[in-house]
Amino acid sequence: MGSGAYICGEESALFESMEGDRGEPRNKPPYPTVSGFRKKPTVINNVETLVYSFMIFRYGARKFKELGTADSRGSKVFSISGDTPKPGIYELELGMTVDQFVQEFGDGDTKAVQVGGASGFCVPRKKFKDTIIGFEGVPTGGSMMLFNSSRSMYNVLHNYLEFFEEESCGQCTPCRVGCQQLKLGIEAVKRGEKHANYLDQLQKLAQTMKITAKCGLGQSVANSFFSIVENFREEMIY
Ligand code: SF4
Repeated sequence: MGSGAYICGEESALFESMEGDRGEPRNKPPYPTVSGFRKKPTVINNVETLVYSFMIFRYGARKFKELGTADSRGSKVFSISGDTPKPGIYELELGMTVDQFVQEFGDGDTKAVQVGGASGFCVPRKKFKDTIIGFEGVPTGGSMMLFNSSRSMYNVLHNYLEFFEEESCGQCTPCRVGCQQLKLGIEAVKRGEKHANYLDQLQKLAQTMKITAKCGLGQSVANSFFSIVENFREEMIY
């Protein structure tokens, strides 16, 4: 089993590692600003936040707010991968639609965009035009994966579930058992051993994980699970 710290940005697991213990998330509250590294109040931010803070102090909030939308101000650093002729790291203005993003980075045959990595949301082609990349649509930590029509969305989801199963630290039952059961469940449906309706039960399990898992890793499995199963259900079935 791995540690959820890598994917969910679970800073308390980072503190555990820095203190020489196994990198497992802590119960909250208390939150890090009250009790963090060595039980002292701790502020933890990624480099991107610190750079934007500097820019706002240096150039002013008004300048920063010229970019983006009312709900999603400024720009963001994106990691773009998958079926794209232009993979890489880009700084882009927030608030563009997925359709505009695909026009810039797609290969002409994009059928889905995974916004926010394995913990994020899958947007199918039919929703590209209506989906904004930002807080008023699909928020993202910056990972953007493009898939063209040669890709099996079953394989994509299976890959994500393998990843979650591996990364689960095993501390709480909903995540430890849930990740495994979701993977076994879609395998059974794909082999025809379970009826397609079983996907509905798996969605209930994913919803339960969202409510009951201890940290962001287990809570976010439902995002990709729901959005892929709902939008590509026919690819999940035997
Ligand atoms: S949800 Fe639970 S088992 Fe999964 S990584 Fe977080 S603490 Fe560990």
